[in-house]
Amino acid sequence: MSWSSPSPNAVPVRPALDAVPVYSSALASSTPVTVRASSNEAPDGVSAAVRDAVSARLERPNRYPVLGGRDLIAAVAQWLGADPAEIAVADGSLSLLNYLLLAHCAPGAGVVLPWRSYEAYPICVLTAGGVPVRVPNRTDGAHDLDALASAIGEGTSAVLLCSPNNPTGVALTHDEIAAFLRHVPGHVLVVLDEAYRDFDDRADRPRSRELLSAHPNLVLLRTFSKAYGLAGMRVGYAVGHPGIITAVRKILPPFPVGALSVVAAIAALGDDAHREGIVGGVRTQRDEVVRMLADHRIPAFATASNFIWLPLGERSGVLEAICAEFGMSTRVFDGEGIRISLGEPGLVEALKAALERFASES
Ligand SMILES: *Cc1c(COP(=O)(O)O)cnc(C)c1O
Repeated sequence: MSWSSPSPNAVPVRPALDAVPVYSSALASSTPVTVRASSNEAPDGVSAAVRDAVSARLERPNRYPVLGGRDLIAAVAQWLGADPAEIAVADGSLSLLNYLLLAHCAPGAGVVLPWRSYEAYPICVLTAGGVPVRVPNRTDGAHDLDALASAIGEGTSAVLLCSPNNPTGVALTHDEIAAFLRHVPGHVLVVLDEAYRDFDDRADRPRSRELLSAHPNLVLLRTFSKAYGLAGMRVGYAVGHPGIITAVRKILPPFPVGALSVVAAIAALGDDAHREGIVGGVRTQRDEVVRMLADHRIPAFATASNFIWLPLGERSGVLEAICAEFGMSTRVFDGEGIRISLGEPGLVEALKAALERFASES
C-alpha cells in the first residue's frame, strides 16, 4: 500500500477537511542540500546546557514528565516575570494555535487572518470548524491592519497576526498593534504569533506583554523552534489572560510536552549566550544578504526575521532551481516569491553564486 497516492476513504471525513490541502514539502532538485535555507531553522549546534539536561533525563525514560508541563510553565513564568496561570505549554506553538481555536472558534465562525502568512493558519482554522477569512497584505509585505479590522464582523471569533510575518519577514510596530487592538471588539480573540520576535531588533518592535494587561482578549504565541535552536524538540508556549489559558489547558493532553523536550527548553531558557549567538549570527548574515541583494538589484521586503522574501513573481522558480544547483534549498511560493532562511554557514557564498547566475540568465 502506498501512502503517496491517496485512495478513497471508506470512513466519512468531516466535510471541513475537504478544503484542507495534503501537506507536501518536496524539494525542487535532486542535488544534495548543503545549505538548508528552506525551513527557518537555527543552524546546527546544541548548547552544553541542553545536552547535559537531555542526557540526564535520558536515564529515566520510563517515568512520565511532570503533569501538565508544570515545571516548564513555572520556568517560563519566572523567566517572563508572569503568573504561571498566564502560561500554557505544548508540543510547538502551532499545537497551541490549534487548541486556542478549538477552545474559542464557534462552528462556522470567521477567523480573520492576513495573507500571505503562515501556511498552517487556514488549516488550523478549518480543523477547528471555522472559516478562514484571508485579508491580503499590503504590497510591501506588511499586514494591512485597516483591512483586517474592517474584515471583523458579527460572526468573527478570532483574528491572527504574525510579527515578523512568515513568509514576508515584515514586522509590525508596537503602536500599530496597540491601535489595531483598540478597534477589535473585546469578545474577539486576537492571536499574536511571535515565533520570530527575537530577530526583530527595531527600536519600535512590539512590547507585546505590555499590551496584554489592557487587552484580555490578546494571546501571544512563542516557540523554542527558532531563536532557541530546538525545532526538533517541539516546544512552544502561550501567554495570555488566565481565562484563555484555562480554556486551552482543558483541551491539552495531560502531558503536553515530552520529558526530554521539557528539560531541553528549561535549559535553553536560561542560556542567553546560546540564544544571542543564534540571533547575532542571523542579524550579521541578514545585513550581508540585504547588501548583496541590493547590489544585484534584486527586490526584497524589509525583513525583521531570520529569513528574507524576494517578490520575484513568475521568476521565483528560476532562482529556486539555480539555488538548488548550488546546494541551497529555498521555499518558493509559485508565481509570488521566494523565501530564503538566514543563519546557515555557507549561505552567503552559495547565494552569491546563485545570484550571479540568475543575473546572467535574466
Ligand atoms: C516556525 C513557526 C512557528 C513555530 O511552530 P512550532 O510549532 O513552535 O515549531 C509558529 N509560527 C510561525 C509563523 C512559524 O513560522
